[in-house]
Amino acid sequence: MTARIYIDFERFGKKVIEFAAIAVYKRKLLSIFHSFVNHHVSNDKRYNRQAQFSHCIHLDDLQKYGDNKEDRVKYRFVQWLKNFDFERIIIIGHGDDTTKKSLCQYIPQLESIHHLEFRQITLPVWILREHADYHLATAKMKTICRALPCNASMHCVEMNLYHQHRSNLSRIAKYMYGFHCSMYDCFELAFFENTLPLYRCDDEFFNEVVIDSIQPYLKRK
Ligand SMILES: [Zn+2]
Repeated sequence: MTARIYIDFERFGKKVIEFAAIAVYKRKLLSIFHSFVNHHVSNDKRYNRQAQFSHCIHLDDLQKYGDNKEDRVKYRFVQWLKNFDFERIIIIGHGDDTTKKSLCQYIPQLESIHHLEFRQITLPVWILREHADYHLATAKMKTICRALPCNASMHCVEMNLYHQHRSNLSRIAKYMYGFHCSMYDCFELAFFENTLPLYRCDDEFFNEVVIDSIQPYLKRK
């Protein structure tokens, strides 16, 4: 019995502001971990530039919905992970911040979970991803889904393609994808690996996801 955990972060500088992971088993979504982290960033031009270019989370929402303690978010994630009663759990990410080394540095408690494995996915470059089915499904899902813990209303800062003089086709493809949400980026990884069906709307999502099916895989408290 092997479960896959797809993980992703959105950051402001080195600080994680959105932390998400999804648990997948036998082409079913078992559970979602999602949290904003409030670092008390106040009117900061660098934040606004990052918001406009990628994550698009309004500062007010970070303050309103974000956990004030990053360590508490990490702790909650570890507790969430420990809920799954699988012989093998593979944590899968994309990018330097989700390697085994980076994750264990960021969350040292992971080292003490003995049946964890780590794996990296390399997604194709943006310009190639643009027309891929897994990418289109993620892009559509993140703008229309209302059923999931994070949705478009949480990423509503207007997006601008700043530094236009440095724009290239890959940057434009990234921009056309819209806001980056760590939760939907986890779904893209699962769609890319074909470990989840390509949901295109809430109805399909609910048809596929049987929330009760999560229970047998959770340890009894
Ligand atoms: Zn999000």
